[in-house]
Amino acid sequence: MLRTRFVAALSLGLSLATAASAQQPPATQPPRPPAGFRGGTQIKPGEECPAGTTEIRPNNCLAPASPPPSIVDYRPKSTLIVPSAGMKWKAKYPVVDFHGHPSGLLGNADGLARLGASMDSINVRLMIAADNVSGDRLQRTMELVNGSPTMKDRIRLLTGINLSGVGPGWAAKAVTQLEADVKGGAVGIGEIGKGFGLSTRKADGTRLRLNDPDLDPIWEAAARLKMPVFIHTADPQEFFREVDNTNERWLEVSLFPERLYPQDKYPSFNQLMAERDSLFLRHPKTTFVAAHLGWHANDLGRLGRMFDKMPNVLAEVGAVLYDIARQPRSAHDFFIKYQDRLLFGKDSFQPEEYPYYWRVFESRDDYFDYYRNYHAFWKLYGIDLPDVVLKKVYYQNALRIMPAIQIPGWPK
Ligand SMILES: [Zn+2]
Repeated sequence: MLRTRFVAALSLGLSLATAASAQQPPATQPPRPPAGFRGGTQIKPGEECPAGTTEIRPNNCLAPASPPPSIVDYRPKSTLIVPSAGMKWKAKYPVVDFHGHPSGLLGNADGLARLGASMDSINVRLMIAADNVSGDRLQRTMELVNGSPTMKDRIRLLTGINLSGVGPGWAAKAVTQLEADVKGGAVGIGEIGKGFGLSTRKADGTRLRLNDPDLDPIWEAAARLKMPVFIHTADPQEFFREVDNTNERWLEVSLFPERLYPQDKYPSFNQLMAERDSLFLRHPKTTFVAAHLGWHANDLGRLGRMFDKMPNVLAEVGAVLYDIARQPRSAHDFFIKYQDRLLFGKDSFQPEEYPYYWRVFESRDDYFDYYRNYHAFWKLYGIDLPDVVLKKVYYQNALRIMPAIQIPGWPK
């Protein structure tokens, strides 16, 4: 208490003597604030301020004089003026989008042409459609792509694996389908969706664990066929906990409550990650690509330890730009250190959102807006990657792990 009054008095510019000579208040009552000080509620060290107030001096909490806007309505306009490269539409080098979902545009020649124009506008040279397209649909889509003189080198497809009903006889069928799809032109497998681990059931009704040995033949076949496996496991860790005022994704999970995984119904985040890591370690000859930086963009040290332990694993950067760009120095160092393990991918196909990625990767701009407010309450910073790393992340790493892609003409 005394320390609190002392600090409060000091920061108000009152003399030390005034503070020292102040009457000690009765132990049960909070100290009176100094004259002229619109003080608030005293709290004990370590306590939180009461609702509706904020800590203005150590252990002193004040309510705003004007009615506070809700966090939905609070839209402060930055007054910061700094040198800035700004937003540019085209990436500095041609890009492979490893995490493409253009499904609606791959149905006919007109959609394909529109997709091509959009890709040109942002310098995405090759899109890997990660839509789990298999069998006849894969054939039809490949015929459409191959029949287009302008788009035949712009789209490649990942094939899907049907993970429902895993049990006796499942693996042989799945491997046969995979082999057929590889002949049909697939260059990898995925995106294996987050349902795998969270909700997919085996034939016997139990939850299909990511490291279930019944799946081993398909991962081994992927290694033999040189098909990387693109896998999305779980979701941001904040979706697996209570929605309170300390949840960093409060706005998102309040707007979209169906994104939450109540812990009485679903496995925990760390349970899923443990199963995923065990899967990656069981199949060292299979190349796995963890979508969304494995949901560890907020803990790059954890992802780095995975990379160190699992040379067969890469990760893709889609939809976690807000985490990369709030730690520009750490992320820069991480991208330099693991430059051979990272792939560009965007996920949802919104051409106007790609330039945010270019700006984060290519510039050293300070404090700029993200394109989706509800993901993050903070601003982005450029991580200023050198050209040699940009080229790896934008296209060289993707071409290396998918030998089936034979498209010439990439920059050296
Ligand atoms: Zn996806």
